[in-house]
Amino acid sequence: MLSYQHAYHAGNFADLHKHLVLHAVVDHLLRKASPITFVDTHSGRGVYPLDAPETQRLGEYRHGVLPLWRERGRLADEPLLASWLDAVTDLQHGGPRLEVYPGSPWWLARRLRHGDRLWLYELHPGEHDHLAQQPLPANARRIHGDGLAGLVQALPVPTPRLCVLIDPSFERKEEYAEVAGTLLAAMRKARHGVVLVWYPLLPAGRHLELLERLRDGGLRKIWRSELTLRPPGGEHGMYGSGMLVVNPPWGLDERLAAAMARATPLLGEASRYTAGWWVAE
Ligand code: SAM
Repeated sequence: MLSYQHAYHAGNFADLHKHLVLHAVVDHLLRKASPITFVDTHSGRGVYPLDAPETQRLGEYRHGVLPLWRERGRLADEPLLASWLDAVTDLQHGGPRLEVYPGSPWWLARRLRHGDRLWLYELHPGEHDHLAQQPLPANARRIHGDGLAGLVQALPVPTPRLCVLIDPSFERKEEYAEVAGTLLAAMRKARHGVVLVWYPLLPAGRHLELLERLRDGGLRKIWRSELTLRPPGGEHGMYGSGMLVVNPPWGLDERLAAAMARATPLLGEASRYTAGWWVAE
């Protein structure tokens, strides 16, 4: 079953959280010259026009990227947010409105250097067709297939460094265990890889299975960051967004804390941001 389409949620608070962490990690990794293979196991379409009927139906970007983009002048003194918002602005067509929101392939492709590689997996045929229409640099490859199996098969990579984003839709409850199993297998083959994993915070609390499997599997250096819109409990629906970074770059926690201190209040009075080690060194 593959029914999830990210266009319904593009630019929401979870995308903001995920892509800000991704942006900060990539920014840090590019400070060194040695080449990197970037792997996006669940790519989606690549870019999302905000006037698409799917995106307009829920309009989630109005409570995610839009409030930040509107405040970009006031946020210009916060370095991470400013560079993230500059990147979003670069993608617009120059008008006064926010028209397009970039997905993870765009965030990864935009700063790809000559010796780097980018592998983009997408399993859904329709989503892959959209991705296939995106202009990408020659060292980016699109793969219509399973990104979790593809990642483990592809390791070790031909470059000295590796950075992976695992961003499933979690349509099936088994996906939490599958992601944990994939990550543990991947880290056995690429011990120094930097791996980012997104997970939803839902009332059922299934993300705890993912976290506990990673800890019980012996993985170290797992940093966790969570952005919540309201306290857990009671209601249905996603109340927060979680990101794990295995082998996080030095200084990531501080850079994100400073950016999120400014971004979180723009997402609503009840929003909260927390971060720290899930498993330390
Ligand atoms: N990473 C994207 C971004 O940040 O813009 C959003 C990805 S969306 C949350 C999840 C995507 O994974 C969907 O497009 C879905 O079709 C795709 N998908 C689901 N299972 C997959 C699998 N096993 N391998 C690759 N793609 C998969």
